Amino acid sequence: MKSTIVLLGPPGSGKGTQGEKLCSEFGYVKLSTGDMLREAVKNGTELGKKAKEYMDAGALVPNDLIIGMMKEKIAAADGKVILDGFPRTIEQADALGEQMDVDIALNLDVDDGELVKRITMRRSCPSCNAVYHLLYNAPKNEGVCDKCGAKLYQRDDDTEETVLNRLKTYREKTMPLIGYYEGKGKLVTVEGVGSIDEIFEKVKKAIQ
Ligand code: AMP
Repeated sequence: MKSTIVLLGPPGSGKGTQGEKLCSEFGYVKLSTGDMLREAVKNGTELGKKAKEYMDAGALVPNDLIIGMMKEKIAAADGKVILDGFPRTIEQADALGEQMDVDIALNLDVDDGELVKRITMRRSCPSCNAVYHLLYNAPKNEGVCDKCGAKLYQRDDDTEETVLNRLKTYREKTMPLIGYYEGKGKLVTVEGVGSIDEIFEKVKKAIQ
């Protein structure tokens, strides 16, 4: 089984959900730049203050801030690692390549209409970062995280308006990574449609 996995795919394609399942089933450690940035915003750190305006606009946080943050986290990570939301630009991918070898870039492919539906109905846990969908993956008790009991919320950038910007940003800045990893013979694309468990079956096959 692959030991370093980059999760590629647009916002809402299921990177967080599938990454979480790989962690609980196979003991991966997931490093999510989005979760780290939201934590920094919540704690009011310097990084959080700088990142917030980009995140709220659906733009990417500047490469130097992200690369600096991830260098430390990757250096500290032990064992099998999943990178969720990093790299998102060629510059970030080059920086990652200097630090560690990527075994596989798993690209979750989902069409735009489905992405908007998924993201605007997404609810997140501010405490353990679990994600839910109001229809497809609803929490057992309305508004409450199944895993840790915290009150669920809608991310500031999960509104329809910001989602369209995030998709545009994805196409311009992140999609070129598909060709980048394909050229290195590392790319595997999985169609991210169907139930969470059906997609997970395909994901498991892809990382063997
Ligand atoms: P996510 O939770 O992965 O959807 O990320 C939420 C937001 O955090 C993105 O829309 C960006 O503003 C920012 N972000 C997350 N990862 C990165 C990254 N690798 N590079 C730049 N910005 C990022």
